[in-house]
Amino acid sequence: MPSAKAAVLRQTGAPMTIETVDVGPLAPGDVLVRVRAASLCHTDLEAIEGALAVALPAVLGHEAAGEVFEIGAAVNGLKRGDRVVLSWNPHCGACFYCEHAQPILCRQFLANAPAAFHFDGKPRLSCDAVAVHQLMYLGGFAEYCIVPEASAVRVPDAMPFDRAALLGCGVMTGVGAATRIAALRWGDVAMVIGCGAVGLSAVQGCVLAGAGAIVAVDPNPVRRVLAQQLGATHAVEPGEAIDVARVLSQDRGADVVIEAAGVPAGFRLSLEAVRPGGQVVWLGKVGVQQEVAFRWGSLMQEKRITRSSYGGARPQQDFPMLARAYLEGRLKLDEMISARIPLEAINEGFAALKRGETVRSVVMFA
Ligand SMILES: [Zn+2]
Ligand SMILES: [Zn+2]
Repeated sequence: MPSAKAAVLRQTGAPMTIETVDVGPLAPGDVLVRVRAASLCHTDLEAIEGALAVALPAVLGHEAAGEVFEIGAAVNGLKRGDRVVLSWNPHCGACFYCEHAQPILCRQFLANAPAAFHFDGKPRLSCDAVAVHQLMYLGGFAEYCIVPEASAVRVPDAMPFDRAALLGCGVMTGVGAATRIAALRWGDVAMVIGCGAVGLSAVQGCVLAGAGAIVAVDPNPVRRVLAQQLGATHAVEPGEAIDVARVLSQDRGADVVIEAAGVPAGFRLSLEAVRPGGQVVWLGKVGVQQEVAFRWGSLMQEKRITRSSYGGARPQQDFPMLARAYLEGRLKLDEMISARIPLEAINEGFAALKRGETVRSVVMFA
């Protein structure tokens, strides 16, 4: 088993340190992945800041792509050299929720997440013989990581690693919100609130689903321009959003509103902007103990509200489909990469993400 250079979080609120970790042992159902690219997502930031509880020390990183380096004895769907995008939602396939086609609620997945080891409770990484945890069963901010077979999803060899990495979390969540959760219909008036990586992906999901108009909402003018490059027909400040949706819909409001800003004002706007009987999909989040207030009237009139964590992801189907969409020019990913950085620059990368300066910074491994 190789050793790996990794960014290790030892204390919440403190910078990650670049260290060498020991990788292994490989269980029969595991895959050893040589990570080639891993992007910086807000959920990692939550772990760094302590808002998301994760056992420490840990290697974060859950939006990553690489190549299969070694497989466990029981793995038969992958081989060395396969190009893979990592999924952070391994699931047992046998619990109540798995049987109800809701793998994101898998009991094993949720129960084992805070301990940040695999489902068997055993570590796959160590440093000076002390176990190191893996955020979301992955730990992509390392040269190598060991993941369950189901978390390594093969994509075409032509798919560049840096763009492939984006598919694993933000793009899947945003595109899936439009195509899997909202089930947008041809010609619908859609609104996407918040134009970070998830929101920009939701805009593209609305394009792929055949929306008739897509209103992107963000206070940041640079993000609004980007949203229009990626397919938004209108890009407006939050204060203008409701009026624009009304003009486009004979005063009804948007058929579908996808919230990807993660602020109380965004959640409120989503309900005010959707038409009676319309669909609201919430992707953003605030602190789990935080309360958010709504005008009761905005909740009335048969509106359907869904909170989704992964856009209804079916990674084995969706990741190859998203990769093909990119390779055929139907999904734009190049525009979402703000910077390619070495692992050593990861802390500055997260500071820039927090300041809202970047959509996605991608750590590149040799
Ligand atoms: Zn399950
Ligand atoms: Zn993420």
